[in-house]
Amino acid sequence: MNYEAPPFLLELLKARSPSGYEYEAQAVFDARVKPHADTYERDALGNRIATLNPSGDPVLMLAGHMDELGLIITYANKDGFLYFDTIGGHDRVMIPGRRVVIRTAKGPVKGVTGKRAIHLMEESDRKKVPEIHEIWIDIGAKTKEEALSIVAIGDTATYDQDFDLIRNSIGVARAFDNKVGAYAVGETLIRLRAAGALQEARVVSVATAQEEIGVRGATTAAYAVNPHIAIAVDVSHATDHPDCDNRKYGETKLGGGPILCRGANINPWVFERLVSCATEAKIPLQFEADPRPTGTDARAIQMGRGGVATGLVGIPLRYMHTPSELVDLADVEHCVQLLTAFALSLKRGDRAHW
Ligand SMILES: [Zn+2]
Repeated sequence: MNYEAPPFLLELLKARSPSGYEYEAQAVFDARVKPHADTYERDALGNRIATLNPSGDPVLMLAGHMDELGLIITYANKDGFLYFDTIGGHDRVMIPGRRVVIRTAKGPVKGVTGKRAIHLMEESDRKKVPEIHEIWIDIGAKTKEEALSIVAIGDTATYDQDFDLIRNSIGVARAFDNKVGAYAVGETLIRLRAAGALQEARVVSVATAQEEIGVRGATTAAYAVNPHIAIAVDVSHATDHPDCDNRKYGETKLGGGPILCRGANINPWVFERLVSCATEAKIPLQFEADPRPTGTDARAIQMGRGGVATGLVGIPLRYMHTPSELVDLADVEHCVQLLTAFALSLKRGDRAHW
């Protein structure tokens, strides 16, 4: 089977967009979604807010964060090696030995994350995970002056790893988290536009910024959009790989369909509506439970203003926050179908109060 990944998603996956530096993902969203929206806004945090049917009711906000993990340059030493801090929740084991691309004012600069070779390590150090300050970025510069003539303090780096299909519809990418979510909310708006005048709700698809460092873009976007109902779309752990204890983390799998979350962060009316839309459209679903505010934009949106009826749709993913995240793109398509069906199901006056 020759699976073809959607070009819009491929462009988002290629875009480098560490939190606070979402430029490239913003540009993709602008090019792909803006032409289909009735109104389209940017804001001070860098969110992208696309609205369809502005006079519609209720107001439905769909949020997918477009930022990703990265590294931020903090210091160049006298020999031209660059030191960095992390953007987002890195597993330090994953950082050394990578090719990276630094985004600079003069364009992309290639480098590698270096650390001492195993032969040069003390026996006792071989078992340790290196501290961040024990890893550096080598761009081939020989002096501090040379390094800082190429790269500025505050420039960011991402792993130089792009998308590949590894088998059928299973893809690997550096930042499926959460380009798939940003894609799903943008693509849903595009399909609703194509579906024509069937829709009562105002649909506001937001590519949110800075989720990975504390759901910051969703916090301000939810205030500005002021929705009645919202759905956050993010990746969620597929627990179907070795060494994952189902007793602790539940049972979800790649290719099993979107994962609906239940718990205090989730409005029960929105949850039930999502289930009935999926049943009607024969979209496979999986379930997870979280008794706390989730680690997603849903956490910020639910607590916006006087409270927002919020749902959370997860796209199953293996190896989260590593340079090689795995997603079944069939799950992404099912997610778009689910969001589209949900938006079309809303009727004027729906408030999801309970
Ligand atoms: Zn994440």
